Amino acid sequence: MVEIAADPTHPRYQSLLMRHRLEEAEKKGMLAGSALIAHGRGEAFDYLLGEQTVPSALKATHQALAYLLAAQRPVISLNGNAVALAGKELLHLADQLKCPVEINIFYRTPERMEALLSHLEQIKREESFDVEILGANPDARIPGLEGPRANCVRRGIFDSDVVFVPLEDGDRCEALMAMGKTVLVVDLNPLSRTAQMASVTMVDELTRVVANMNIALTNQPHPFVDDTFQNEDALSAVLVHIRDYITSA
Ligand code: ATP
Ligand code: MG
Repeated sequence: MVEIAADPTHPRYQSLLMRHRLEEAEKKGMLAGSALIAHGRGEAFDYLLGEQTVPSALKATHQALAYLLAAQRPVISLNGNAVALAGKELLHLADQLKCPVEINIFYRTPERMEALLSHLEQIKREESFDVEILGANPDARIPGLEGPRANCVRRGIFDSDVVFVPLEDGDRCEALMAMGKTVLVVDLNPLSRTAQMASVTMVDELTRVVANMNIALTNQPHPFVDDTFQNEDALSAVLVHIRDYITSA
């Protein structure tokens, strides 16, 4: 696995690299038991997209970035898979947006929190990113959720107006929407509850989304919020793309 992942000429190099990153994260105790299942579900949908950023997804990504740039209190919420797959790139994004990140995991244990925090702190040191990493000491709760997954940080997710939550669960996406926030999600499954519920859904693979955001931030002018954007239309466009892609195969 390591050898194949290191060989960029392999036709499925990107996919193998992502799996390798998850394997390494698993060894460090950063992931929940269901993390690989969630990733596998994503891979299946990515196949149906041709493992590429489709035009409507890029449009949604620029809309999401515009919301983050226009926000008063933006925050990036990170789970185990997001940290494992794109921890460095997400911290780079937060550094450019000058917003905090908050580790907010579905299955919260002290060991996993510690593994994720220390992994991010290490990247932050190595890359000299100026980013506040929240999550170690939750002091608020997301209304409408039970148990530890409701925990969050007041000056992070709780008080945010715009929250970028790659790979969020449907339940929590709904609860964040109910708090009146603009919720920006990445989900390869256009039919998931998360995808259907969010303010902006980027139906694309997480590492491609973050790369596209970081590229867009180097261009001028930065994207503006498009008031005519409709998330349902963006989702329909992706479904049409999948249909056309499958029928042409
Ligand atoms: P929901 O709770 O929203 O109805 P779900 O319970 O069906 O969704 P989960 O298992 O909670 O889904 O989470 C996995 C989701 O994340 C899947 O929809 C999958 O497509 C998506 N996903 C997994 N890995 C990635 C990735 N690298 N990039 C983008 N999306 C991904
Ligand atoms: Mg779910």
